[in-house]
Amino acid sequence: MSDNSAPKPKNPLGGLNLSFLAPADGAQTTPAVPPTQTSGGAPVEARLVIVGSGPAGLTAAIYAGRANLKPIVIGGVVGGGQLMITSEVENFPGFPDGIQGPELMGKFRKQAERFGARIVDADVDRVELGQKPFRLWADDVEYRAETVIVATGAEALWLGIDSEARLRGRGVSACATCDGFFFRDKEIAVVGGGDSALEEALYLTRFASKVHLIHRRDAFRGSRIMQERAANHPKIKLHLNRTVEEILGAEQVEAIRLGHTDTPGEEHLPIEGVFMAIGHRPNVAIFRDWLETDEKGYLRHDGASTASNIDGVFVAGDVDDHRYRQAVTAAGEGCRAAIDAERWLEAQEAQKREATAGKTSA
Ligand code: NAP
Repeated sequence: MSDNSAPKPKNPLGGLNLSFLAPADGAQTTPAVPPTQTSGGAPVEARLVIVGSGPAGLTAAIYAGRANLKPIVIGGVVGGGQLMITSEVENFPGFPDGIQGPELMGKFRKQAERFGARIVDADVDRVELGQKPFRLWADDVEYRAETVIVATGAEALWLGIDSEARLRGRGVSACATCDGFFFRDKEIAVVGGGDSALEEALYLTRFASKVHLIHRRDAFRGSRIMQERAANHPKIKLHLNRTVEEILGAEQVEAIRLGHTDTPGEEHLPIEGVFMAIGHRPNVAIFRDWLETDEKGYLRHDGASTASNIDGVFVAGDVDDHRYRQAVTAAGEGCRAAIDAERWLEAQEAQKREATAGKTSA
């Protein structure tokens, strides 16, 4: 079972076949020590470092690679972002029959590597953005970058009740794709009222005998088409105006206690698994000292561009977007960030040339 709260294991996507994430044939692979680092451990220098390897980060890498910026993508120990734990993606343009999330991310990666992006499978643990070049550290390697794109995405939220933490990995999960398989022919619940909850409930009908979809209000937040599919699915039972008060079970989930939000009362629902699908938190921790966030904790950017409050640092994808949060909008913003970074680098060079020309003519 997956456990999003525990320290990240090397492969928390147990059960998923990730072989298609191998670098493209003929593309540069990422050795343990990045190729530009000297034997003495000198910093790795780059024109552009992209942090994150979801749709935003890898689209930025494709554009920056084609602009010959030779970007380094520090993509995380487990790269690929949220689509790696998404099943069928039906709304990414160009895939009329749908595509599995991990397969789509494998294609993004292959395309980025084709244009010379170097992808490092490590987590950035510290950054210094107070002076140029910007400095970032991952796996004890220091990277120095003229410009940085932050595309670190967002991660799943939990209810925060004690029994949820106690039974996590014992029937409580936030990843239907990772753990659905374990609930073949069992009754389970999904909590949430957005597209994630609707999508996960539908996905889990492949395995479960019955899926109880529990939402705290009387109306779903998710898209109309997904609502209709869930409401009409013979294996899905909707429980509106219900909150999960407690998850019951000594060693494994055995039931949940539901509270009513419309009328007084409680109910006891026997189930063997519960999947949380109640939204996401942006991954901003390492940038907190440097980059401004909005009232919801997402990174701020200049409305007209992807520029952050630090000159030369750009932001893209779910880490700055709590409104749309789609793979295609993240990819679009990754494209914009790469173009912004490229233009910023050009402007810096033009300034340097002008300064040099001024000195020469003086
Ligand atoms: P979301 O839209 O923010 O929905 C979160 C849901 O969880 C809401 O219904 C919310 O209830 C509920 N919730 C939040 N905190 C809760 C708590 N403590 N207890 C009980 N319920 C709680 O998040 P999401 O579903 O992850 O979707 C995020 C974005 O990704 C959306 O823009 C969505 O459209 C998109 N998305 C798209 C697809 C797709 O198109 N294939 C798939 C997944 C996600 P309230 O409604 O009462 O606030």
